Amino acid sequence: KVSDDIQQMLDAHDLLRKFYHHLLVNTKEGQHALEYLLNRGFTLESIKKFQIGYSLNSWDFVSKFLLKRNFTPQILEKAGLIIKRESDDSFFDRFRDRIMFPIFDRNGKTIAFSGRSLGQDEPKYLNSPETAIFNKSKILYNFHLAKPSIRKTSHSVIFEGFADVIAADRADVDNGIATMGTSLTEEHVGILKKIVQTVTICYDSDYAGIEAAYRAGKMLSSAGILVKVAMLSDGLDPDDYIKKYGTEKFRHEVIGSTVTWMSFKFLYFRRGKNLQNEGDRLLYIEEVLKEIGKLSKAVEIDHYLRQLAGEFSLSLDALKQQLQPISKNNK
Ligand code: ATP
Ligand code: MN
Ligand code: MN
Ligand code: MN
Repeated sequence: KVSDDIQQMLDAHDLLRKFYHHLLVNTKEGQHALEYLLNRGFTLESIKKFQIGYSLNSWDFVSKFLLKRNFTPQILEKAGLIIKRESDDSFFDRFRDRIMFPIFDRNGKTIAFSGRSLGQDEPKYLNSPETAIFNKSKILYNFHLAKPSIRKTSHSVIFEGFADVIAADRADVDNGIATMGTSLTEEHVGILKKIVQTVTICYDSDYAGIEAAYRAGKMLSSAGILVKVAMLSDGLDPDDYIKKYGTEKFRHEVIGSTVTWMSFKFLYFRRGKNLQNEGDRLLYIEEVLKEIGKLSKAVEIDHYLRQLAGEFSLSLDALKQQLQPISKNNK
């Protein structure tokens, strides 16, 4: 049985989610926010499905709205919805003039919000703080809606951002999830491990995204999950890509054309190297051999060794010889 405080925090989130959504979809105050979303390619259908909303440009809307409904300031502060002023005992709203993405737990209860600024205001995304009902390192965005599809296919696609999950959903990729702007944690991996065999990583194609994909892939594959990587080009993220090239192309040429975790690592090791340069080339071959040395299936080992031999005109024998000591060290 949940405590009274927790129940009230949940109730406050539930009421606010509905009201933020109403403000976005039905009111003049929310019109510019709605236009911003539609311009970005969000549809009304996905705005409804993901219950996206708008928080007014006001310092005390939330306080007034919820205090009238018998919530105490203490509960609302604990819920992360209002903040106490230093100067006196008054409170102000955490989220003002932002696009509001409700964060649901696995049962579909609203437990937090992430608010995106409309313009260039920093931070771009403002999250609820950690509270008794919201623990970032355990929450995967959209897990509650994606769960049936994930379960059915034993497969999930992981994105960097909310906008990516929502855009992918328009492309009928309905098993998409994202972390809350943080790196993947062991808790996240544990949640996924229970219901997937395969995870496709589809992160932004900028520097940070590729680094994050490498880290996430290492964690997921260490947990025994089969990892695939869906790659984008030109520094785009999935949401940009879909806006530029459409949902069909995204489905087929991104989600439908993944590379294996091993191939991704090979591409990753090439970054910042000039393979025309002898030193870089030798370093690359060494890094790749080290990865091949960790494999256990003879057929896989043979496949990648041949690939490497072919690419750099090396003898298979030489590669095999160099592989031996490495694989022993790895055991
Ligand atoms: P948009 O398309 O709206 O610009 P994005 O998802 O492409 O957003 P990224 O900059 O790629 O944004 O960041 C990925 C994710 O990281 C965001 O969805 C958000 O969850 C989180 N994030 C980004 N910037 C911040 C920030 N300043 N504070 C907290 N979280 C952030
Ligand atoms: Mn990014
Ligand atoms: Mn992005
Ligand atoms: Mn984006």
